[in-house]
Amino acid sequence: MSSHSLPGSVWSGLIGQDDVIVTLQAAVRHAHGPGEAGPAMTHAWLVTGPPGSGRSSAATTFAAALVCDEGGCGSCQACRTAAQGGHADVHVEIPEGSEILLDHVKPLVQMAAQAPMTATWRVIVIEDADRLNDRAANYLLKALEEPTPHTVWILCAPSVDDVLPTIASRTRHVGLRTPPTASIAAMLVDDCGVDETLAAFAARASQGHVGRARALATDEMTRERRQQYLRSPMNLRDLPSCVAVAGEVFEAVSAVADSRADRLDEEEVHLLKSRYYAEGVTRLTGALKRSHDAEAKELAKEQKRRRKRLVIDEVDRAIVDLIGLFRDVLTVQMQAGVELINGEMRAQIEQMAAGSTREDSVRRMDALEHERVVLFSESSPRAVLEAVMVQIKDPNVRVGVA
Ligand SMILES: [Zn+2]
Repeated sequence: MSSHSLPGSVWSGLIGQDDVIVTLQAAVRHAHGPGEAGPAMTHAWLVTGPPGSGRSSAATTFAAALVCDEGGCGSCQACRTAAQGGHADVHVEIPEGSEILLDHVKPLVQMAAQAPMTATWRVIVIEDADRLNDRAANYLLKALEEPTPHTVWILCAPSVDDVLPTIASRTRHVGLRTPPTASIAAMLVDDCGVDETLAAFAARASQGHVGRARALATDEMTRERRQQYLRSPMNLRDLPSCVAVAGEVFEAVSAVADSRADRLDEEEVHLLKSRYYAEGVTRLTGALKRSHDAEAKELAKEQKRRRKRLVIDEVDRAIVDLIGLFRDVLTVQMQAGVELINGEMRAQIEQMAAGSTREDSVRRMDALEHERVVLFSESSPRAVLEAVMVQIKDPNVRVGVA
């Protein structure tokens, strides 16, 4: 546990990121001081880090700390609603497609021009700012150049090189690192109360992805699904079996994504209701009803987008798990003596290592990395899974997903 992240505060959710916490806490102190914000605070930030390092969680933590009177206590209404996406002054833009278009950015810039409603700051987070197309980025640039007082932009991207230099130069950069396995395991023991063996397994299997580690440690279904993803290469005999296995994995992925989406949807609908229905009120009328209905419609749209996105994210996890499997196979083939990611599957991995060449393993890993890119630019996650299975079956084949 970091000395900067008191248990229970919003900061305790950022694992293995002490330097970033110091920077953001200083910003929050200067943001909440009397009069103008001090130099540690600025109106535009770029949060970078490898997938799973917690870019979006760093962004929403920072957002919560900016709208909380206590700088991120973790227990007040502001902290809780900011984290769940229900705070009026915090907007988190999660792109659905491969590009963020001008039409997506315009409403955000309009929003940024307004003063915050209840908090001291209005916070707009753009996840995957690397997907801004040029027109959208240039439009956003104007807003970054002429900042509205008390609005802060937080852009997230894999690295500084993934955004336009003009955007990068107008934002302050904080870089997350892949959290060490030991830090993740310690967090799982402290926060989730799991035993050390399970924590060590989940931390290793997550390959540095904190959210994934948490799910593996605490959720039986997540562990079972992961086993299913990892066993899938054993059932690939011919093309029809590749398609069938891809279909089964897709069903499993959808079940995970749906259960996650259902839970989030329910919380948000509850939150919306609690904002409109005062104690004892059973029916809304007039302007209040119209406002509620408009918000409910907007929420339903957002939820539908998120559900699709959660499917894509879970397919990505399945592919990452498979890449880890072939990394293990290659480790055995090279006799590298490095700890296996999937140590509990050593017998199967040794068998796979004996039945293929190092080149096969490298080709499979390359093909899978390529399919991850395709996944985020294509509309059919199922087709991506089919391409994944075909290329695992025969590493000499290259599949283009149409
Ligand atoms: Zn708070």
